[in-house]
Amino acid sequence: MDKIVICKQCGKPEYWGEMRWLSGRCTCRNCYKANWQDENHCLYTWDDLDGKRPTMKEYQEQQDERYRNGKD
Ligand SMILES: [Zn+2]
Repeated sequence: MDKIVICKQCGKPEYWGEMRWLSGRCTCRNCYKANWQDENHCLYTWDDLDGKRPTMKEYQEQQDERYRNGKD
């Protein structure tokens, strides 16, 4: 399972492998899209940012799992 991280911009969980870089910021797909539209002043029309997002529950479960395994 892909590692889940918390986006620093919106505080929502996102898969680590789906985080996007834009202007030195590493954000989730939602924020990337918003930032991209902000910078380019046009709509982001591609669908590569669609797809399943992890839930806060999944993030918590992963944190619990990591704690149990002593990885932190
Ligand atoms: Zn975000």
